[in-house]
Amino acid sequence: MQAYYCLDYLERTGRSVKKNVFHVYFGGCNFRCPYCNTPDLLDFREEYLQDVKLLKQKIKEESNFVEAVLFTGGEPTLQRLALIELARFAKKLKLKVGLDTNGSKPLTIKSLLEKKLLDFISLDIKAPLLEDDFERVTKSKTFFAPTASILHDLNNTISLLKKHKLELEIRIPIVPSLMYRKEDVLSVVKIASDVGARLVLVQFSTKNPILNKKLIGVKPPGEKFLKTLRDLIHKKYPSLDVYLLPAEN
Ligand code: SF4
Repeated sequence: MQAYYCLDYLERTGRSVKKNVFHVYFGGCNFRCPYCNTPDLLDFREEYLQDVKLLKQKIKEESNFVEAVLFTGGEPTLQRLALIELARFAKKLKLKVGLDTNGSKPLTIKSLLEKKLLDFISLDIKAPLLEDDFERVTKSKTFFAPTASILHDLNNTISLLKKHKLELEIRIPIVPSLMYRKEDVLSVVKIASDVGARLVLVQFSTKNPILNKKLIGVKPPGEKFLKTLRDLIHKKYPSLDVYLLPAEN
């Protein structure tokens, strides 16, 4: 079996998960978020198409040093069969398995959950789940699928997460001029509270490569702004775990 993945991006770091984690970067994404920091991974490039055997070998080697594998990208759920195969392989090696996703492929996530191949999901919710807001923040009018259908799928993913017991994280990218308003953020926070996820506020950064070059001069939200936002969330949802992820992480 072949899959689109990128060996250059493979790394062994901790990130927000409190474990030593091996990251596997899948190539290809169905979104084009303007602030995306992995623009090189958005297309299904021919150079990324490789046998999954190579990746399995790499995961096996890394299993001596790490506790978990995190499938990220790009959007890993677009390559359902390869993802299931690799998650199963990692599980056989007694590794924990995590998934970073934009939530647009509930059927893939359902398969992984039903096969008990996931220990952790980090779901990016980029905007309030209303057509106008989602289009404004993500520019989803330029995506292949209509916004209404993306939102339908995202809602299905959220419903799935409510039914399964696993470690959950909801991430909100905080991006000046796009996703920063209190009411917008709180509408996503409510989802995190409903599904019992911890919440991560991700600070927008222009340090990495960025998809929309118009954002290069935009100043990232300051620490004070993010802390104020966190305090506000705590006031409304006192039992919710809220983390700030600085731009350099
Ligand atoms: S931020 Fe994530 S979902 Fe958005 S384009 Fe980049 S990889 Fe895709």
